Amino acid sequence: MERLTSPRVIKEIVSKYGFKFTKSLGQNFLVDENILHKIVDGAEITKEDVVFEIGPGIGTLTQALAERAKKVVAVEIDKTLLPILDKTLSEYNNIEVINGDILKIDISQLIEEQSPHRPIKVIANLPYYVTTPIIMKFLEEKLPVNNMVVMIQKEVADRMQARPGTKDYGSLSLAVQYYCEPKIITMVPKTVFIPQPNVESTVIKLEILKNPRVYVKDEKLLFNIIRAAFGKRRKTLLNALANSNLGFDKDMIKEVLQKYGIKEERRGETLNLEEYALLADGFLKQKLI
Ligand code: SAM
Repeated sequence: MERLTSPRVIKEIVSKYGFKFTKSLGQNFLVDENILHKIVDGAEITKEDVVFEIGPGIGTLTQALAERAKKVVAVEIDKTLLPILDKTLSEYNNIEVINGDILKIDISQLIEEQSPHRPIKVIANLPYYVTTPIIMKFLEEKLPVNNMVVMIQKEVADRMQARPGTKDYGSLSLAVQYYCEPKIITMVPKTVFIPQPNVESTVIKLEILKNPRVYVKDEKLLFNIIRAAFGKRRKTLLNALANSNLGFDKDMIKEVLQKYGIKEERRGETLNLEEYALLADGFLKQKLI
């Protein structure tokens, strides 16, 4: 079969099936063999692995994954792509296509059915309109995932791996780095998609840590504090936390900051994850007193 990365083959498929690209579903199909291999190589797939793909499109990445993995489970929201996938994936007997919205299906149950004894790998050229919710769903639900190799908007990838004190650093950096070790695999220009998106892309690997990077007694409180600290980015930490909906009074905040040696005039963007973890446990203690 001819390669699905060929623009000519895509045009033929589009015309044969009367397929119409839906912009709101983030349908930008990959037409670059080199990038395709970087994604697949980055995930270090073996014949033991069950791989979950989100949004197979016409099956370009799916084919390459099926060559390497034990099984590929591909979840596609757009029904009109199903007859196309039926044809393009017909030569493989280790692919299961599921029609559904990845944000709505019970992924935990699906993993339990498809790979009960081994963590899965997640690989995708993600639809950009829902990149963050999809990634956070896998992380927050603590699903048995070994790593995720995803193509996402460049700006989002930059935020995920940003360090304290940089302009890209924010609650997404902290949330992602709490659960994973992010590593950029490659930058991707707009020109390798049909149709071309408006933004540049990056392939990023999120290696899921065995345990979150820091230990806190109350995870929800940790992320509420982080959100509050960045909600008022230009304010000092003391003012940002005091003016948030955390419900902590100023004196209590001052006391906790002082106890952990964190200067009250610092801004949220200068604190690292370890410092946020100290604050979360410190505030929890005060709340319980
Ligand atoms: N994997 C193909 C490729 O690399 O050429 C297509 C990638 S395209 C950027 C994103 C795909 O995700 C589209 O096929 C789109 O229909 C699908 N999609 C969008 N939202 C989705 C959702 N919520 N759940 C599952 N699939 C979704």
